[in-house]
Amino acid sequence: GSQVVDKKVDSVCPFCGVGCLLTYNVKDNVIVSVDGRDGPANHSRLCVKGRFGFDYAASPQRLTVPLIRKAGVSKDPDLLNRLNQRMSEQGTDWSEVFREATWEEALALGAGQLKNLRDQFGPKALAGFGSAKCSNEEAYLFQKLVRTGFGSNNVDHCTRLCHASSVAALLEGVGSGAVSNQVNDVEHSDLIFVIGSNPTANHPVAATWMKNAAQRGAKIVLADPRITDLGQHAWRTLQFKADTDVAMLNALIHVVIEEGLADQDFIAKRANNYEALRENVQGYSPEAMAPICGIPAETLREVARAFAKAKGAMILWGMGVSQHVHGTDNARCLIALVTVTGQIGKPGSGLHPLRGQNNVQGASDAGLIPMMFPNYQRVTNAAAHAWFEDFWSTPLDAQAGYTVVEIMHKILAPENDPHKVRGMYIMGENPAMSDPDLNHARHALASLEHLVVQDIFMTETAWLADVVLPATAWPEKNGTVSNTDRMVQLGKQAIAPPGQAKPDLWIIQQMAQRIGAYASHTPSAPAGDWGRGRPLACGYAGEFDGVAQVYDEMRRTMHTAISGITWERLQRESSVTYPCLSADDPGAPTVFLDHFATEDGRVNLVPADIIPANERPDAQYPFVLITGRQLEHWHTGSMTRRATVLDAIEPMATASMCGGDLAQLGLSTGDVLTIESRRGQVTLHVRRDDGTPQGAVFVPFAYYEAAANLMTNAALDPYGKIPEFKYCAVAIRAG
Ligand code: SF4
Repeated sequence: GSQVVDKKVDSVCPFCGVGCLLTYNVKDNVIVSVDGRDGPANHSRLCVKGRFGFDYAASPQRLTVPLIRKAGVSKDPDLLNRLNQRMSEQGTDWSEVFREATWEEALALGAGQLKNLRDQFGPKALAGFGSAKCSNEEAYLFQKLVRTGFGSNNVDHCTRLCHASSVAALLEGVGSGAVSNQVNDVEHSDLIFVIGSNPTANHPVAATWMKNAAQRGAKIVLADPRITDLGQHAWRTLQFKADTDVAMLNALIHVVIEEGLADQDFIAKRANNYEALRENVQGYSPEAMAPICGIPAETLREVARAFAKAKGAMILWGMGVSQHVHGTDNARCLIALVTVTGQIGKPGSGLHPLRGQNNVQGASDAGLIPMMFPNYQRVTNAAAHAWFEDFWSTPLDAQAGYTVVEIMHKILAPENDPHKVRGMYIMGENPAMSDPDLNHARHALASLEHLVVQDIFMTETAWLADVVLPATAWPEKNGTVSNTDRMVQLGKQAIAPPGQAKPDLWIIQQMAQRIGAYASHTPSAPAGDWGRGRPLACGYAGEFDGVAQVYDEMRRTMHTAISGITWERLQRESSVTYPCLSADDPGAPTVFLDHFATEDGRVNLVPADIIPANERPDAQYPFVLITGRQLEHWHTGSMTRRATVLDAIEPMATASMCGGDLAQLGLSTGDVLTIESRRGQVTLHVRRDDGTPQGAVFVPFAYYEAAANLMTNAALDPYGKIPEFKYCAVAIRAG
């Protein structure tokens, strides 16, 4: 920034999982510009979101006062669009739905109603969604509130919609859900295999490392039904037919084994179940799979050979792999491919599921998931359960909780279902835009007996709340986030929150104190006794020391990963990679060098067979809908669409189709079309994009006025419980 500023404050970009370090330039409590900082993930680089997407924090649409729903105002989800439209035209007048309240009144009502539901119907009547946009400390404290206060493990967040299937496959296969190698390790790769990912849009600075590697001679293989910008840098593009990942990947593994390119030494020393895998892929020759996946057999052979022979070959993948009913199988194939070729456990190789949100790795690490305590300790594991009961001095539920989409179903369960969810606390998540089959999800949210939403904007979810609590934006708080590379990174408060908005940690504590510990097994435990860890009673969280106390307790629960990453060290170094086990441990950028994180230290190979998408195109709905993101807008758009520059670049919802399909429908760029699935429809403008495959339409999910998820299918992958966002059947018509 060339302007004269009052102060420069070091933080982390709040958007994607790349985790670029940046500096906020602040004048008169307003961020006036952002500079890239020399962090290990970005080396001072920033993309358009990080550089220009900061003024959402100063938006006049920020929530600044606690709100309580007016008596008798309907929660009809159809109101959403009208209310949103009016907000975008007239600003922040929500008096039709809410009245302003004091913090004391809003907290008493919000927490009091949840407590009543718990006391009347039991702990399973409540659920909580935290957010991958919140800090590690907030994620930790939130899941602790749900487990110890609500009394169940009904806590989840958008990781369920993102890489849940990848993580299921990785935990089963290699024993750890995190990446094996960091993005900029592609510097040491000869071959970079990118599948189901559009990194130039969704991980832009990560994409620059890939492009730089291509410039020095590395081969990029871009495998995706929709060919995006990285294709310009690719040695081969594999535009396989949507939904045929397993067919294509098994064919690659088939070639490696059949042509004698498998690394038998590596397999013998480090893999289990190779024979079953080998037998299974026998039926997947490239010649047999070519008509299914649409890639010529010779191309599959060529890519498989290059992958196996590379000194280092790394796989990076995104939601295109994970968001299918066979997402876990897709990831199992990726694990098998690196294992049979010995492309893991060394520099320039390995498995890298590119994390979406800035803290989706950290929020999951911190236990914001229904089947695991912090640090991936299964709630059903007796030893882990006992450890946390002791550590938190509170009895804990030993049953895994429900996941995001399951919770939506449980809200609509019959009255006599003992697990019917009746009340929710949602912090920073926007399921009324991000869940699949939105008409169903919004109906569920509107059916809750009590909903508390804590956010910085009146999101589509907040419109359906009974109590809305105004929280702080990322530049207004201190805290850590963990990026896709397993780097724990510290952000410092740059500006004060607006109006009466409060730090999320403070709000969680206030809620917790009013709800009290769930103590059915120990009726004598006083409400508000939160155990020996006591983070819920830590000092005022707006202060640096309060955040540090929560971080320290979290660190104790994650000692096998981050025991060497002290708060003091984070202040000094800004970014430390885990696993990091002592003060002088530099952290491990590459893991699995000589053993995997599984019980016996070996990788578990799991053969996968073809499972079709849950809903295939037919005569009535002949097109495939693919949803995703675009460079300028992030997820449900609540932040980026309120960032002036980003909104100016991409102001309205568009769908993308290839020229051939447009011609067939008699459409051209700029025309209006309506897309309809069995569940819902949207009307928006179309854009020509020849990277989109024939017979498919791509729609970003950031736009409330044409919410792509009205159409998506809530069918789940059975292992990761991730919905099939990347494939459903739609009809398209002009106008
Ligand atoms: Fe932010 Fe990601 Fe862009 Fe980096 S690449 S500036 S972390 S959005």
